[in-house]
Amino acid sequence: MMSHATLLTRDVEVAAALVRQGELVAFPTETVYGLGADAFNPEAVRKIFEAKGRPLDNPLIVHIAEPAQLAALVQEVPETAQRFIDRFFPGPLTLVLPRHPAVPDEVTAGLPTVGVRMPRHPMAQAFLRACGIPVAAPSANRSGRPSPTRWEAVYADLNGRIACILQGDRSDMGLESTVVDCTGAEPLVLRAGAVPLEALQAVVPQTRLATPDDVRQARSPGTRYRHYAPQAQVILVDTPQAAQPHPQHAYIGLASPTHPEAFGLCCVCPDVATYAYELFDFFRRSDAAGCKRIYAQRVPRIGLGLALMDRLERAAAK
Ligand code: AMP
Ligand code: MG
Repeated sequence: MMSHATLLTRDVEVAAALVRQGELVAFPTETVYGLGADAFNPEAVRKIFEAKGRPLDNPLIVHIAEPAQLAALVQEVPETAQRFIDRFFPGPLTLVLPRHPAVPDEVTAGLPTVGVRMPRHPMAQAFLRACGIPVAAPSANRSGRPSPTRWEAVYADLNGRIACILQGDRSDMGLESTVVDCTGAEPLVLRAGAVPLEALQAVVPQTRLATPDDVRQARSPGTRYRHYAPQAQVILVDTPQAAQPHPQHAYIGLASPTHPEAFGLCCVCPDVATYAYELFDFFRRSDAAGCKRIYAQRVPRIGLGLALMDRLERAAAK
């Protein structure tokens, strides 16, 4: 493991050169920050698992600058996948596709499939274009921690463990990409995320949410780990009245408590998109403030609310 300080830069060419040399670079996307390595360099990819403390059987998403790069990564593009590509690339959608034999096992965790995404964030696009190669990248946090939505959060988790952080703005969505398995007869959402299920169904009506059985069959191992958890205990509530006010308690939700100032930290969000944008950052701020409990208000499981509830339930499941 490297021990020198991590380079901070806004220069995509500098960051891309490091990736081509087999080093790890964290970069901004519209969802959360990713931790990238050359997807065709197994040694570089192994460093990702080491830096994050990530279980080796959790596959990585491969990031591309343009759809033409798919040819090197996948065996074929099923018809449903092509429709999603036409509608949602670039964007916060990951497609699970039949893998090309040249993709290293380190990337796919030995699965017959590979997850591919083309981000739309301008700095991510410029960086991926400058790399000129597909970049394997999970979220740029220590394994089990909330995903980073600012470069400062990446720095807090990974300084000294990775070569470089590309300093972009705060991620504008704050939730991870939606992961859709397109290898079967009907597309299956393995992980709810920034593209709502309803938006996918508007393009391919047969798309449905994977059941726990489907997930076992698709062998999407990442979904079985505890994720997104702050150090504080997370308690889900239906209304702010169910949250116990205390200086060491935090509250986040759509409705305001009667006395917001009675909480150590309080974040009242005007809508579900803002709630999703704030959540991981709020978790990290609550830990930094020494809060012992975080109360989080439940939301309806429609639109982005589905992904938000998924993250809240995982964080609360200790
Ligand atoms: P992260 O980028 O840290 O959010 O993790 C990537 C997510 O994508 C994990 O939940 C993985 O299980 C999932 N994933 C990546 N590649 C595949 C694949 N080939 N099949 C199923 N799930 C995948
Ligand atoms: Mg992650």
